[in-house]
This record gives sequence, C-alpha cells and structure tokens, in this order.
Amino acid sequence: MIESAWRKWRQRSLLQQFALISLIAITLIGLLLGQMLRTSVERQVLDAAIAEAEVVSRLGLQSAIGPSELKNGLNSDRIRALQIELQTDFARIDVIDLVLWNLEREVVYATDMRRVGQTAQLTPEISKSFAGKPVARITEVSHLPNISAILKRHGTVVEVYQPVQFGSLDKGNIAGVLRTAIPYEPVAQTITKETGRLYIALVFAFITLYVLLFRLVANASAELRQRADENEQQARHDALTGLPNRTQFSEVVDETLAKGIPYLAIALMDLDRFKEVNDTLGHHHGDLLLIETGTRISNTLDARDMVARLGGDEFALILHGVTDSEAALTVARRVVEALEQPFNIEGLSIDISASIGVSIAPDHGNDLATLLQRADVAMYFAKNSKTGCALYDPGFDNNSRGQLAMLGELRRSINEQLVVYYQPKVELLTGRVCGVEALVRWDHPERGLIPPDVFIPIAERSGMMHTMTRIVLAKSLAQLRDWLDTGFDLDLSVNVSARGLHDGKLSGVVKDLLQRYAVPSERLILEITETTIAADPVRAREFLTSLGEKGVRFSIDDFGTGYSSLAVLRSLPVNELKIDREFISDLAHPDCAAIVEYSIRLGHVLGLAVVAEGVEDAADQKQLAGLGCDMAQGYWFARPMPADAFTAWIRSDLSIAA
Ligand code: C2E
Ligand code: MG
Ligand code: MG
Repeated sequence: MIESAWRKWRQRSLLQQFALISLIAITLIGLLLGQMLRTSVERQVLDAAIAEAEVVSRLGLQSAIGPSELKNGLNSDRIRALQIELQTDFARIDVIDLVLWNLEREVVYATDMRRVGQTAQLTPEISKSFAGKPVARITEVSHLPNISAILKRHGTVVEVYQPVQFGSLDKGNIAGVLRTAIPYEPVAQTITKETGRLYIALVFAFITLYVLLFRLVANASAELRQRADENEQQARHDALTGLPNRTQFSEVVDETLAKGIPYLAIALMDLDRFKEVNDTLGHHHGDLLLIETGTRISNTLDARDMVARLGGDEFALILHGVTDSEAALTVARRVVEALEQPFNIEGLSIDISASIGVSIAPDHGNDLATLLQRADVAMYFAKNSKTGCALYDPGFDNNSRGQLAMLGELRRSINEQLVVYYQPKVELLTGRVCGVEALVRWDHPERGLIPPDVFIPIAERSGMMHTMTRIVLAKSLAQLRDWLDTGFDLDLSVNVSARGLHDGKLSGVVKDLLQRYAVPSERLILEITETTIAADPVRAREFLTSLGEKGVRFSIDDFGTGYSSLAVLRSLPVNELKIDREFISDLAHPDCAAIVEYSIRLGHVLGLAVVAEGVEDAADQKQLAGLGCDMAQGYWFARPMPADAFTAWIRSDLSIAA
C-alpha cells in the first residue's frame, strides 16, 4: 500500500511534487504564523485591558481612597458613597466588577458589597500582583459559585489584577491589589476583527508567494527540461556532423538484435588518407570533409538504414534493408563509389577513398561487440588489400599483413600481372584437341607464378572477382580469336565463380566480348561448379538462361562433389558435365569407377557431353574411353600452359596418343 503510493508519487513530475510539497509547507507556515499573530493580538488586547485597569486604579479608586482607608477598611456608608462616585468612571471603561484587597488580602471595597470584609485566597494572580506585576487573564466565570448576577450574565470576562500603590511606584510601596473585570465580548470582537484582517493579509501574502514560487520553479523546470532534451540530443549525436553517435548506434544494434530480427548487416567505414587531408589542409577542411562524407553516405543509403559517426574518420552503418551478404556488399560498394567522387571543399577539390568492412548477424556474431570486431577485421582487410570493401571471413583472422599487402599489389596490377594458362581438352574417341580451359595465374614479379587456389578465395571475399572474371574472359577470348584465325578448331572453357552469378552485369559483358572478338557464342563454354549451382539454383538458372539463349554453352564443373539434385540438373540448360578429378585419380578403385560410370551414363541420359578431368596416365584414358566418356583433360595430355606454349604444343601434335 505504502509502496504503491510511493511509486505513484515517484511517477509525478518534479513540478507536481514541488507544487504539492510547497503547498503543504506554506499552509503549515501560514497556520503557525496565524496562530502566533493571534496570540500576539490577544496579548496586545490584554495589555490594553491592563492599561485601562491602571487608569481605573490610579485615576478613579486611588484618588478616592486614601492609604489608611485601604489599610483599615471602609464603613458601608463610605462604600456606598464610593460606588456612586466611581459609577461614571467605571461605566466609561465598561468595568462590570471590581474588588480591592488590602495587604492582608481583606476585601476593602467591591462592586458586590457582600464580599467586603472577606479574605481572598492567595491565587497566583493575586500573589503576582502583590509582587508588583499586573496580570490579565480571560476567565470563564459563569460556572463559579457566589458571583454577582452581572458577572454571570457576561459569562466570560477579562480579569485584571493590578497592584495598588500610593506615591512612588517602588515594588515595596504596594498597598493592595485591585481586580477589575471587563466583559470579554468586545475584547473578543476586537481580537477577531484584528486577527481576521491579519489572516486575510497573510493568506493573500502566501498565495502571492506561492504563485510566484510556482511560476519561478515552473520556468526553471521548463528550462531544465529543455536543457535535458538538448543534453540527450548531444549525448546521442555527433556534434560535428549531427549524425547519430556511437551510443545511439550501439543502442539501435542492441535493440534490433534483441527483437530477434533474423538478419542484420552492419558496416564499419574509415576514410583512407584522412590524416593527410587534416595535416595538409587543416582541421577546418578536415571537418567540412567529414560533414560532407556523412551527407554522401546518408544519401547513398536506404531511408531505413542508419549511418553513425563513431569518432575521427570512422563511420558505422546499419543496413536494415539487406537480406544477404551480396546485397550488403553491393550497398558497401555503392558507398565506396560515392566517396570516390572528388569532394569540393571551399573551392578545393579533394580526392579521398574509403574502406568498408561488413559483418552480418547471425553468420558472424550475435552481439554488438563481436559484430563490430569482425566488421573491423573486414575493414582492415579491405584497407590493406585496397579492395574498398570486404565481407568478414574467418580466414581474415589469420591473414598475415604480408598476404594483405600482396592483395593490395594484386588490385593495383591485376590487369598486367594476371595471366591465363591453357589446358587442352581432348576427344577420347578421336584424340582430337577440341578445346582449351582457361586457367588463371598471377605472375608475381618476385614470387613467381601464384596458383588460383591461393588468391581466388581472397579476391572473392574482397569484391575483386568481378574484375578478375572480366580480365580472364577478355584475354582468353582475344587468344581464341587468334587461334581461330590461325585455323585451330577450338572451343574455350572459362570458369565462373559463385560471385559471377551475382554479378548482374556479367551476361552483358560476355555478350559484348564475344562481339568484340567476333567469337561465335557456341565456342564459349562457361564452367560453373556443381557446388555453386546447388547453393543457388534459382540464380544459376537465370544466368544460364540469359546467356544460353545467345548460344553460349555451360558445363557443370567438379561434378560429383556438389550434391546437386537430379531435378535441378535436368531443368538447367547445361551442355556438359565435368567429372571431378577426385574420382578420376582413383579410377582403379571399384567405387570410383562405378561413380564415374554412373556419371557418364547420367550425363548421356540428360543429353550432356561428359568430360573427365585430371587424367594422369594412359590407363585412365583407356578406361574412360571404354566407359564411353566423351572428352578428357589432364596432365597426361598436357599441363596448363601459356598461350604461346599451347600454340607450339598443338602444332607439334605430340601428345595425343589414342
Ligand atoms: P578447375 O576448373 O576444376 O580446373 C582444373 C584444375 O585441375 C586446374 O587447376 C588444373 O591445373 C588442374 N588439373 C588439370 N589436370 C590435372 C591433372 O592431371 N592432375 C591434377 N592434379 N590436376 C590437374 P588450377 O589451374 O590450379 O585451378 C584450380 C581451380 O581454380 C580451377 O579448378 C577453377 O575452379 C579455379 N580457377 C582457375 N582459373 C579460374 C578463373 O579464371 N576463374 C575462376 N572463377 N576460377 C578459376
Ligand atoms: Mg574448370
Ligand atoms: Mg574442375
């Protein structure tokens, strides 16, 4: 009960709490002050009564009675004469009862004659008066026995006990005590009137004080609230760019993850060479550049997405709109491209680039810290490999600086240092070289020839694969054109990676290149691994269909390793099936032989040409021919070799022994 009242109280605004508490406090102070004033007014009224009694005593009675009369008493005639003498004086000041005691406390004179000669008890008032102090008190007399009718009628009276002195006013000179009683009614009226006026003034003063205080506090409270709002805004926003800051970014990521949203991509971005701008052009230009960077990123993003500045030249993005890693990379790439456009800062054209690392929940982590750390690793990778953007990959954690630097080199020299090797494809029945497979190598100036297995996975993760595929296609199609012109009747097989399927522009590029080198589209066979097809059959079909219509042929590479469903195989417009060399290398084993035999038959049933790859000896060649395999490729015929070597090799026609 108390707890719930307390909770309700805490829910009230500070202003409401203040209003209530100050109202209670002011009311209490008002009541206390009122009470004090009333007491003071009463005191004043009683003091006035004492002063009046003093007048009665000094001017009336004392002038009429001498000291010896007071001491020895008065006879009744003298008392009656005195009554008549004093009547007018008493009437003037409303005295309704009067008793005069001498030092023996014997009543010498009284309005009520019956009391004359009686001795008074020593009450505190009488003894105080004998000690020289006048005392006034309000007394309820109606219930007292033996009182006069007039006193009874008044009920409550003001009694004043007054020392009687003749001559000097020394304390030792006291000759008796006079008690006068005046009606309380008019006194009470005076008190009520006086206190009433005071109360009105008091209430008015306190209401004014309360209103003023309330307004003052209300204003202060409004100002405080505004400040608090401003502080809140500052606490969650970056002062320079006005973008959300790290706090807000963290909150949003935490909240989104807590909602259990199945997919959340975040990105970390940092400007390359920003320090140089700051150092050479000054902080002012650096600041303007950061503001413009924030604006450009915001303009590139979807309305649902968020860009925050974490500090320095580091920005963080929340990509609410994407649902797969490819889309996240696409957005990241768009941001990088937007920032690659020169900035115009106060008339100066500034070129800058950025690196972005992307991490995705739940694939790379389920909490903010892990996601940030992984996006950071990916960004570090993107920066070092000069690829612009990268999706986090566990492999990055082990990437040595040397490897990353190597990627940077690849990016810079991709066009010059990538070379294409060619491996012949041989018809088993005739021994004719019917085609070549283009296999990429990196001809590194210091490291020599680097095989694709080493650099392709990293190129894929860092978004370089698109460029690489285009280069291999262009170089090999140009080469095929040469060979066709020379009179070689060859097809060309080119590998397309999983990323190629996501490259919406690739089919257009292929068509353009075929046209540029005037290569009939049937001469081109694009190899896609079975794993890639199985991972995304829908996209594979789209890609195959768009180019298949133009006459380009397709081959399922590394067949046997990818678990593609037969239904998918049947429905795809492919022309060739390439049995993985894993099975060919172990043909002596009955299981492998059975798989190969089954694959050849399956291929034929589906109307596909079947190629065996990795043929390393004559026995394999013979066995495959026996099983009805159409074509073969392998070291037994020739290793992959540069174009010139291939030309020489085919001319010498040494290798193909049927
Ligand atoms: P792949 O497409 O299956 O290429 C066949 C691989 O088998 C080649 O390795 C080739 O040198 C190797 N090989 C051929 N005959 C034999 C043999 O008798 N014995 C053995 N042990 N190996 C043989 P390479 O050139 O190292 O290429 C490896 C993989 O890299 C390729 O496998 C392909 O998946 C990929 N790759 C190569 N060039 C490209 C390219 O331009 N684009 C893409 N996306 N991938 C490529
Ligand atoms: Mg291949
Ligand atoms: Mg293969």
